[in-house]
Amino acid sequence: MRYHRIPDETVRRLPIYLRGLLFSSEQGQQNISSRNLADFVGVNSWQIRKDFSYFGDFGTRGVGYNVEKLAKEIKKILKLDIVQKVALVGVGNLGSALLAYPGFVIYGFDITVAFDINPKKVGRKIKNVAIEDVSNLRTLKKRKIKLAIMAVPREAAQDTAGALVKAGVKGILNFSPCYIIVPKKVKVITIDIAMDLARLPYYMPAS
Ligand code: NAD
Repeated sequence: MRYHRIPDETVRRLPIYLRGLLFSSEQGQQNISSRNLADFVGVNSWQIRKDFSYFGDFGTRGVGYNVEKLAKEIKKILKLDIVQKVALVGVGNLGSALLAYPGFVIYGFDITVAFDINPKKVGRKIKNVAIEDVSNLRTLKKRKIKLAIMAVPREAAQDTAGALVKAGVKGILNFSPCYIIVPKKVKVITIDIAMDLARLPYYMPAS
C-alpha cells in the first residue's frame, strides 16, 4: 500500500524515528512518549505527533507509543517489512566503503550484487558480495532487484541510470554530484556530502 498526500518531509523523518525506536528497543524500552522520542531523535514532539497523525493513531494517552509496534508500523509504511535487495554500481573508494558498511541491515537492505566496468575488479568479492561486469546490469529484472546505489564517476552517472531503469530498477540512490534524468515512475535520491557541508558555514557564528 502507498500512502498518498504524505509530505516528503514526513517520509524523510520516518527513518529517523525508526532508528530511534530500534535503538530504544535494543535498550529494552517497551513504551516511549512522543516527548522522549523527540529528545532522542532531535525532532519536536508536536512534529512527531503531526507526522504520525497521517497514518492514524499510534499512541495511547498516558502510556505513549509501544516501541515495537510503532517500529513495525513504520517499517510497513516505508515498505521495509520485507528484505529489499539492492545492487551497487561502481566499486571504487566510495562503493567499497558502502559494501563494508553494516548500517544498511537494520533497515532490511541486502546489497546482493555489485557491478563495475573495470575488468580488474570484476570477479572479486567484497564482504561476500561478488563484483560483476556492468554489462550484467540487464539481469537485474530477472533477479528481482528494484533498488540500486550508484557510486560511479559523474560522467558515467546518466548512462548508468538509464541502464538501471531499462533493467527494471525503480529506486536509485545516486552519489554522483549531478542531476539525473529518469522517467517519472522511478525515484532518484541524490546524496552529496559536500553540498551538506556547504550549508554549514551559513549557520556558524561570526567570530
Ligand atoms: P572511484 O574512481 O574510486 O570509483 C568509481 C568506480 O566506478 C570505479 O571502480 C570505476 O571502475 C567504476 N566505473 C566507472 N565507470 C563505470 C560505469 N560506467 N559502470 C560501472 N562502474 C563504473 O570514485 P569514488 O571516489 O568512489 O567516487 C564515486 C562517485 O561518488 C563519484 O561520482 C564521486 O564524485 C562521488 N562521491 C560522492 C560523495 C558524496 O558525498 N555523495 C562522496 C565521495 C564521492
